[in-house]
Amino acid sequence: MLPEPITALTAALAKLPGVGPRSAERIALHLVQAEPAVVQQLAQSILTARERIRFCETCGALTEKSPCATCTDARRDAALVCVVERAVDILSVEKSGTFRGKFHVLGGKISPLDGVEPDDLRIAELEKRLASEPIREIIVALGTDVEGDATSSYLAKRLARAGLKISRIGFGLPAGSGLEFADELTLNRALEGRREMI
Ligand SMILES: [Zn+2]
Repeated sequence: MLPEPITALTAALAKLPGVGPRSAERIALHLVQAEPAVVQQLAQSILTARERIRFCETCGALTEKSPCATCTDARRDAALVCVVERAVDILSVEKSGTFRGKFHVLGGKISPLDGVEPDDLRIAELEKRLASEPIREIIVALGTDVEGDATSSYLAKRLARAGLKISRIGFGLPAGSGLEFADELTLNRALEGRREMI
């Protein structure tokens, strides 16, 4: 049996995404034998990152300063807003290299089975932006799974208004997957080949 501090550390690490019980134990055993300064630095970076990072109150991206650099960048096309599920999806779209508009993070997808209702997502925030920003097109860039389909249709209906185009990317994206699985070229084609929903 391992000493209690090690099992406690293992249990805490195992709660992290992508870390199974075996990896958690291996990391814990590594940390308790590492140089104290190295462990100190790791602990400090975790605390610092957590303290300094927040959600942009406009788009929902992870940022140190709200509104974030993307929202305040005058070189970006304010008429175009790409709607994504999670903050990390912004990176996928940015990597594709061609999108020069702004972003909006929903914070999830509608999924009644998991208890995620429209009110749990940042849709009201998007409506607020539609009222105050010169947005002419919303590009819905959600995954191609059932929840992605349902959420896209819901958005198209709820956001429909005169003078606003709502389109959805999808062409060429792997079926039933999210943006993180698409390579840059595929995502680029998906953006170029977006289809108008309404
Ligand atoms: Zn922002």
